[in-house]
Amino acid sequence: LFDVLIVGGGPAGAAAAIYAARKGITTGIVAERFGGQVMDTLAIENFISVKETEGPKLVAGLEEHVKAYEVDVMNHQRAVGLRPGAAGQPAVVQLANGAELKAKTVILATGARWRELNVPGEREYRGKGVAYCPHCDGPLFKGKPVIVVGGGNSGVEAAIDLAGIVHHVTLLEYADALKADAVLQKKLASLPNVTVITQAETLEILGDGQKMTGLRYRDRASGEERQIDAAAVFVQIGLVPNTDWLDGVVARNRFGEIEIDPRCATSVPGIFAAGDCTTVPYKQIIIAMGEGAKAALSAFDFLIRQSAA
Ligand code: FAD
Repeated sequence: LFDVLIVGGGPAGAAAAIYAARKGITTGIVAERFGGQVMDTLAIENFISVKETEGPKLVAGLEEHVKAYEVDVMNHQRAVGLRPGAAGQPAVVQLANGAELKAKTVILATGARWRELNVPGEREYRGKGVAYCPHCDGPLFKGKPVIVVGGGNSGVEAAIDLAGIVHHVTLLEYADALKADAVLQKKLASLPNVTVITQAETLEILGDGQKMTGLRYRDRASGEERQIDAAAVFVQIGLVPNTDWLDGVVARNRFGEIEIDPRCATSVPGIFAAGDCTTVPYKQIIIAMGEGAKAALSAFDFLIRQSAA
C-alpha cells in the first residue's frame, strides 16, 4: 500500500516523487516511459539555471535525483484504470500487465502528446526544423523564414510570438478561415512579416537529408501544389492529454485535460494531478515540475488530515 502513487514519469511525476519521498512517506511511480516528452527533446534552453541541455541528459538527472530517495520506480508499466477508494478505502490503479496497485493518494502526471501532421518528412526532420513548441524552439530560428501549421488559438499565438523573432512567418490553415479569437487575428493581421494562407493541405516536409528546407502543400481551392522554403515548421494542431484511461473517473474539460484547482486537486478527493495532462496553462518542463511539487505537498496535506480522523 503506497501513501502516494504517481502515474507518469515525466518532469511532473519525478518532481512529485521527490517531494513526496522527502516527507518520509511510501512513494511509488508507475511510468510507461520514464522521462516522458523530455526524452524526445533535443536542445532545452529554458530550464532555469541550466543554460543549455539536452532531453536525455535532463532525464538522466531526473532519474538520478529520484533514485536518491526511497521511491519504488516501476518503469515500462502502463496504467489502464483507476478506481478511487470509497470511504477511507485505498484507490486502486490497474496496470496493463494485470497487476493492481493500492494507494491512499494518487497523483496523475501522464502528460500529453502533440498531434502530428502525419505527412512524409515530419518524423525524419523532427528536431531538425520540425518543431512543436514555439516557446522552446522559436529562438533557434532567429532571422530565418518559418511556417506555422494551424490557425486556431495556439497556431495564431505561435505566429505572433515567432514574428518577433524570425524573419518571416507563413501561417497555413486547412479550413477556409482562421479559427483563433478575433483579437488574436487582428493582432496577426497587423504584423508586416506574416503571411496567412488558408485552404492549405500540408503534403510533405522537405529537407536535404540533414535538416528541413521547406514544405509542400496543396491549395484546396485550386488543387494546385505549391512549395514554401523555410528553416522550420511549427505544428500547432493540438495537444492531446494522455487521459483517455480516466474517462468517467475524474472531471476533464472538452480537450481531455484533467480539471484541477490551484492545489492540484481533481474532482475526486485523494486524487491529484499535475503537468501537461491537466488544465494548467502553458505546458513547459519548469511548470510541470512546479505542479508536481505542488501535487505532492497537497497529497501530504490530505494524508495528515486522514490519519487525524
Ligand atoms: P510528460 O513529459 O508527457 O510525461 C508523462 C509521463 O507519463 C511519461 O513518463 C509517460 O510515459 C507517462 N504515461 C503516460 N500515460 C501513462 C499511463 N497510462 N500509464 C503510465 N504512464 C503513463 N518544455 C520546455 O520547458 N522546454 C523545452 O525546450 C521543451 N521542448 C519540447 C520539445 C518537444 C519535442 C516536446 C514534445 C516537448 C517539449 N517541451 C519543452 C514540453 C515539455 O516536454 C512538457 O511540458 C513536459 O515534459 C511535461 O511534463 P509532464 O511530466 O507533465 O508530462
